[in-house]
Amino acid sequence: MDWSWKRIPAEFLVTNVRLCTQGKLGKRKGFLHVRKGRIEGLGVGSPTMEGLPVLDGAGLVCAPGFVDLHVHFREPGQEEKETVATGSLAAAAGGFTSVVTMPNTSPAIDNSGMVRYLIDRGRDAGLCRIFPTGAISPGRQGEAMCEFGDMVAAGAVGFTDDGSPVPNGNLMANALKYAGMLGVPIISHAEDLTIVGNGVMHAGYWSARLGLAGMARASEDSSTFRDIELARASGGHLHVAHVSTRGAVEIIRRAKSEGVHVTAEATPHHFSLDHSRCREYSPLFKMNPPLRESEDVNAVAEGLADGTLDCIATDHAPHTATEKEYQFDQAPFGVTGLETALGVGITYLVNSGVMDLGRLVELMTEKPARALNLPVGRLEEGAEADFVLFDPEKEWVVRAEGFKSRSRNSSYLGEKLSGKVAATFMRGRLTWLDPELAPRGED
Ligand SMILES: [Zn+2]
Repeated sequence: MDWSWKRIPAEFLVTNVRLCTQGKLGKRKGFLHVRKGRIEGLGVGSPTMEGLPVLDGAGLVCAPGFVDLHVHFREPGQEEKETVATGSLAAAAGGFTSVVTMPNTSPAIDNSGMVRYLIDRGRDAGLCRIFPTGAISPGRQGEAMCEFGDMVAAGAVGFTDDGSPVPNGNLMANALKYAGMLGVPIISHAEDLTIVGNGVMHAGYWSARLGLAGMARASEDSSTFRDIELARASGGHLHVAHVSTRGAVEIIRRAKSEGVHVTAEATPHHFSLDHSRCREYSPLFKMNPPLRESEDVNAVAEGLADGTLDCIATDHAPHTATEKEYQFDQAPFGVTGLETALGVGITYLVNSGVMDLGRLVELMTEKPARALNLPVGRLEEGAEADFVLFDPEKEWVVRAEGFKSRSRNSSYLGEKLSGKVAATFMRGRLTWLDPELAPRGED
């Protein structure tokens, strides 16, 4: 039976692909057998199953759908930047089938009704699994604690006041204790507001040269240290978001070796770009934590390679074009990341020799899923058929008009990247198809 992209059958074979799972890229061509939304089988070679439609994936890698532990979909409250639907499409275009949303919307996701609302919006869009986190404190005010139990029952996978730190150490200690009892992590946005003050970029040579207020590493280092010590004392699970300093990597490395229950993530921009990118005062390089120095960039990349940092997360933070046209010090923090993550990973980590492709894919699939206990991220028999087909060698130039996100505030505009997603499937259903890279078949 001929393959047709118009109607994806309930049962089909993907053949001629290199399977990439459990940290390894298969050397020989293999296949994936999908049936009724699940993986019926996979392996090397090409089975003959008469009558089954065959999708010929020659030249493509077949990996589990990517998992992103850190996205901002802006709904409710800032739908002009992104919605759950547009964010889900951006995720699918980037090869992601599961994302964890941050609760700093307006209003914040700080009760079980809001958690259910987000899950419903994700289901309506139908392009990506949405795993919401809830706020630690009502309104993210940093004072009291939300109803964690209700929110976990509604589907929250962790708690965070991300966008802001939790300055009150006693609240953080209690949050770690209660979340730990419920089996979910507290996600730390490690920042000391009394240290960063009104800083807008990393404090160093370039902030001095450009005359912009700096954000010292000590802010992130000391906050990471505090939260790790609170996790050690409570026995709770701390997940450190967007690690950007050499010092924080070192602190996490030591804590792990001492048995503290800590996991951590790093963003593509923090393992690829340094603070010199701010030299033209472009707000497309303004984010929090900021781009730091090359030794930090290298430490983050090494941390990902050696497992100190568990996974890659994009911190996809859409903003309107108007906002990103403000002067550097007035513009909001944050850049998009879902649609460039694979290309940035391959270009800056694989092609530069920091790690192999199998490891990169593991850092975008199984590792993030395991860090937050999400039941996704693996290609195995019986699992739901969330998978991505991509060409690791395809070179492309990042263009604003190519983005599916409602926002275009990417740090990589105009840059040439290697590695592009051809098609994304969730539960055996097509969620994204790149017209140029689509494997053959009737369209
Ligand atoms: Zn944050």
